[in-house]
Amino acid sequence: MEKKFETVLLHPVKVNEKSIKSKVTPIYQTSAFVFKDLEELEGYYQGEGNYLYSRTGNPNPDELGAAVAAIEGAPAGIATSSGLSAILAGVLAVVKSGEHIIAAEDLYGGSFHLLKEELHNLGIETTFVSFTDLAEVEKSIQENTKMLYTESITNPLLRVEDLHGVVQLAKKHHLLTLIDNTFATPFHCNPYELGVDLVVHSATKYIGGHSDVTAGVLVGRDELIAKARAKVVNLGANVSPFEAWLTSRGLKTLALRMKCQSQNAQQLAEALNRNPNIEKVYYPFAESHTGYGAMVTIKLGTQVDTSAFFKSLSWVKIAPTLAGVETTVSHPLTTSHRALPKEVCDELGITMEVVRISVGIEHPDDIIQVFTEALEKALK
Ligand SMILES: *Cc1c(COP(=O)(O)O)cnc(C)c1O
Repeated sequence: MEKKFETVLLHPVKVNEKSIKSKVTPIYQTSAFVFKDLEELEGYYQGEGNYLYSRTGNPNPDELGAAVAAIEGAPAGIATSSGLSAILAGVLAVVKSGEHIIAAEDLYGGSFHLLKEELHNLGIETTFVSFTDLAEVEKSIQENTKMLYTESITNPLLRVEDLHGVVQLAKKHHLLTLIDNTFATPFHCNPYELGVDLVVHSATKYIGGHSDVTAGVLVGRDELIAKARAKVVNLGANVSPFEAWLTSRGLKTLALRMKCQSQNAQQLAEALNRNPNIEKVYYPFAESHTGYGAMVTIKLGTQVDTSAFFKSLSWVKIAPTLAGVETTVSHPLTTSHRALPKEVCDELGITMEVVRISVGIEHPDDIIQVFTEALEKALK
């Protein structure tokens, strides 16, 4: 009997996938994969490759994880639904209830909450300390300490971490290290090659680079990434195929973007450094031969009205994120660091006058001009 209308609708003639040679990996926008018989299904469980179910594995996230691992110089990587879920998977892969983490006090706000609230409730304690003095970090090490966790370049004051020192300290006490490399990117810094165990990225930022995805990546040695993969699968922290695909596409231009954005940032930082309406420019001027990153943080002079400054920025938008190809600004005190106690913000130097600039790929003359003009317009 011929199939009826409804059935034909659902079982169309498929294109012959074997004869198609797509130049880029297609988007495997599917929740599951099919098997021709029980033997093939059993083969999956015997590790003969292929895919089963997208939460447990899908070619687009796999490609993204492997691509970031390759540029970080690490053997393995896994892509996740966000930077935070990559951090969560990395922590849970190696730290159990009853164990202890030492983290930098100036960690990204979301990461701070993850440790302070969620992981605390799961029985994992964190001591937050300043990493500017590693002797202080060493003093915080306890019997049950398992991990040191900090960022290669911190947010928003762009402090460059002494990763050699952190790795040495960890090795001395048999601790693991987790480094958030989001701000520096693998273009400027490769923590894994310096001996760090796990490197994490909010791929939402420079890895994706176009402000159109939320994703994360964790890289490290095979054994640790296998453990993290189990966490991602069990927690359902997988990234969607489409977002992974978009992120992989963005990643291809990382070097071009970082070269341009870092050069623009350096020029802007130099210009603002000479500007009398700026009290301080936070920019790691002399840290690396590949440039110094594309974030510039400034402290406005007392003669500048902060609110008027934000209103005067013409084409530069206020956005509570960073790393896109367009230049944007954010106000750390009232966004990313809003939940931090006021004393901590004061102590860190995150005040009302602090403005974080994510420098884009526009022409540097225009970028410098828009900030210079806004400073003049916002004079009290
Ligand atoms: C944005 C960010 C995160 C969190 O990433 P999401 O993708 O928003 O989950 C973690 N660390 C740093 C340094 C970030 O900038």
